[in-house]
Amino acid sequence: MAEIPFDKLRTAFGANLHEHVSMANYTTARVGGHVPALISVHTLEDLVKAAQTLWDVSTPFIVMGSGSNILVSDQGLDVIVIHNRAHNLEIDTKSEMPSVYAESGAILGTVARQSALRGLSGMEWAAPVPGTVGGAVYGNAGAHGSDMKNSLIMAKILHKNKGIEDWPVDKLDYQYRSSILKREKMPVVILSAIFNMTRSSREEAWEKIKAFQEYRKETQPPGASIGSMFKNPVDDYAGRLIDAAGLKGRRIGRAMISPIHANFVINLEGASAQDIWELMKLARETVNKKFGILLEPEIEVLGKFD
Ligand SMILES: Cc1cc2nc3c(=O)[nH]c(=O)nc-3n(C[C@H](O)[C@H](O)[C@H](O)COP(=O)(O)OP(=O)(O)OC[C@H]3O[C@@H](n4cnc5c(N)ncnc54)[C@H](O)[C@@H]3O)c2cc1C
Repeated sequence: MAEIPFDKLRTAFGANLHEHVSMANYTTARVGGHVPALISVHTLEDLVKAAQTLWDVSTPFIVMGSGSNILVSDQGLDVIVIHNRAHNLEIDTKSEMPSVYAESGAILGTVARQSALRGLSGMEWAAPVPGTVGGAVYGNAGAHGSDMKNSLIMAKILHKNKGIEDWPVDKLDYQYRSSILKREKMPVVILSAIFNMTRSSREEAWEKIKAFQEYRKETQPPGASIGSMFKNPVDDYAGRLIDAAGLKGRRIGRAMISPIHANFVINLEGASAQDIWELMKLARETVNKKFGILLEPEIEVLGKFD
């Protein structure tokens, strides 16, 4: 990577520039090596400024929300991380077609709960997903029979060459846990999103959220993880296949394939990203050998692995 112009970045971002940062402190799996710097942004203006400044000085970067869908190498990354915390919400209950506007650093659970409290239904599915709106729009997050494709009306997107644009949901060309932004690795930053809602009673929406959360508690393991490692193949479940391959409870280093849900790898405190990666490789190879199905990662793997 070309040399990072730290002096310029220090002047531009002051105390919001954190140098030589461990990604283990910013990812839900609690693993990952260092990045040269992380810029904390708390407003949309700061998010736009961070991206434009880094594009101007030709310094590569990634935008990160909750770090709940990325596995970062123990060797770290040669990019700057923009840590997005721009989280304002506007909940429109009055219009004929109610909707929720959320900045991309808003936590999905907050969007769901705040909407429910105002008697709006539509985002309950997202309440237990531990990511931000930006990460969810990027990867077409989904749960409990719904997903971004169903909920999104449009997203506001900053494109390196085209500036700020409104993208209606169709333009994102969503597929299962995938968007055109993700498939084509477009140079974009998701700024905000508007979700389609319906009127409901506060109690009804809240009950739905509670039921989804209870279901999670029963079916998914607690502890540090990146959620589901693999996408479900057509007409089957990655977790069922890994379980049937006899891998529940298998450990490498301080990482373990969960005995509760075999598509989850848990960090038993002190795991390396390599431990998780080795378990992913083992699950993929064993399932392929036993059942002839090649599982496709749902998470994004960033940086170098052996
Ligand atoms: C316990 C657990 C349970 C989970 N359950 C589910 C589930 O039920 N359904 C599901 O779909 N996922 C699930 N996930 C995965 C994850 O929570 C979702 O994919 C979530 O949407 C990721 O959001 P994030 O903010 O953490 O994204 P990150 O991990 O921070 O980033 C993911 C990708 O999105 C990009 N990105 C993030 N924000 C922006 C932005 N503003 N602009 C441009 N690019 C951006 C990043 O660069 C990266 O490429 C789970 C994860 C865990 C740990």
